[in-house]
Amino acid sequence: MSVLVLRAKQLLTLAGERPAVGEDLFAPMKKLENAALVVRDGLVADVLSRGNERWPAGAQTRDLGEVCLAPACVNAHTHLQLSHLRGRTVWRKGFVAWITNLIPLLAEPVDADAIEDACADVAAAGTGYVGDISGSLQNGLALTDKSCREAGLNARHFCEWFGFASSASDAKSPWPARCREDITDNPDLQARCAPAAHALYSTAPETLRAARRHCAQTGSVFTFHLAESPEETQLLTTGEGLLRDVYEGRVLPENWRAPGLRPLDYAEQLQLLGTGVLAVHGVQLRHKEIRRLAESGTALCLCPRSNYNLGLGDPPVNDLLENGVLLCLGTDSLASNADLDVRREALALREEMDVPPEALIRMLTINGAAALGIENAGQLAPGFPAAFCALPPALTL
Ligand SMILES: [Zn+2]
Repeated sequence: MSVLVLRAKQLLTLAGERPAVGEDLFAPMKKLENAALVVRDGLVADVLSRGNERWPAGAQTRDLGEVCLAPACVNAHTHLQLSHLRGRTVWRKGFVAWITNLIPLLAEPVDADAIEDACADVAAAGTGYVGDISGSLQNGLALTDKSCREAGLNARHFCEWFGFASSASDAKSPWPARCREDITDNPDLQARCAPAAHALYSTAPETLRAARRHCAQTGSVFTFHLAESPEETQLLTTGEGLLRDVYEGRVLPENWRAPGLRPLDYAEQLQLLGTGVLAVHGVQLRHKEIRRLAESGTALCLCPRSNYNLGLGDPPVNDLLENGVLLCLGTDSLASNADLDVRREALALREEMDVPPEALIRMLTINGAAALGIENAGQLAPGFPAAFCALPPALTL
């Protein structure tokens, strides 16, 4: 049995904490100085201060130096399959310019090397867990899963339905066509997957509802992009706008009618919200909608750098923090972000909106684990995986 002692100047274990919302996000956090993690077979066996009599005799010790360690981060929203698009999309010109530029690029084949490199970068950035959107490209799921495992990332794959057309085989399967081949006859991979949907304006309402129902029945997390751009709100409320022009004849069916509702109202009408649901973005949410989102128990993943890069504005972070939404963080893809280091999402919120480190560390760890439905993550308590990250100085307490 191998025992390793990891020493660090500071250690935040979050031991005993539960996912935090509202005031609990800001609660003081216990910090250990000159601390050590005793790791046995990959699990935390003990947490010690220097000189403690429980220090295991003869254990191999590694000094990690002047760092503050926290549980490994959770990147709750990525699109690893789009990693080959780094630097190839149009930024700061609005959502429609970005998506217009993106659509033809999605015809390119899956790029195994780009996915592998991205997974290695994610792991090197202190992330242990990812919620990854799959299904953007044909047969990318098994490849992405393999790269995640090789990089030591614990992945939840969200197999995304997109579009309004539905074939007979679609009707029979909970899995979208692009993931189906990879997942069939692979129960091991299937256990890490859940059906998901792209967005309210891009996916048929019956498909959205079916995916949500399947997730509720199987106890898996259902995720979708919600209230990301002003054009989304415009399309859903009026049926008009630049997004209509791009999707007309390409995604939207001829007889498509706008529901005439704002995104949150429409998501409620389709019964998509609730505990076990992870909505992504929420940039366009208004105060009363935020209250309803919180009451529904829906988790929300913020991707502030992606929102900035696309020119969508800032998510209403203070309102979300104050009104009890279960918040976590994600980078989104390399098609809308410069890197996949989720700690930099926290740094952006620290620097731009003065969000306190306690809240950000909880969003990065224990809340992200809860949002992805991953038990045994987000803490460095005995029995938990010894998966940790070094916090950037601006996030230390
Ligand atoms: Zn996304």
